[in-house]
Amino acid sequence: MAKVKGVIVVDKERCKGCGVCISACPCNVLEFSPEVNGKGYNFITMAQPDACTGCASCGLICPDSCIVVYRQKFE
Ligand code: SF4
Ligand code: SF4
Repeated sequence: MAKVKGVIVVDKERCKGCGVCISACPCNVLEFSPEVNGKGYNFITMAQPDACTGCASCGLICPDSCIVVYRQKFE
C-alpha cells in the first residue's frame, strides 16, 4: 500500500504565533520556533517532520492561511 508523507511550508513573516495549528495537528508535528519573526512572534516549525502525513488540518485551520501543505506518495 502506498504511504503518504507530508511537508509544510510556513510563511514565517505572516505567522502570528497563535498556536491554533499546533492543536489541530493529529500527529504532534508542530511547535513554536525559539526564533521570532520580524513582528516578534514565535512562528511555527516542524518539530517532528517525519510524522507529518500531509493531512492538511494545520493549513485549513490557520486563520491567516500561512501554511501550505505538500503531499508525496511512496510505494
Ligand atoms: S499536514 Fe497534518 S500531520 Fe502534517 S503538520 Fe499539518 S496537521 Fe500535522
Ligand atoms: S495557525 Fe497560522 S498564524 Fe497561528 S501559529 Fe499556526 S501558522 Fe501561525
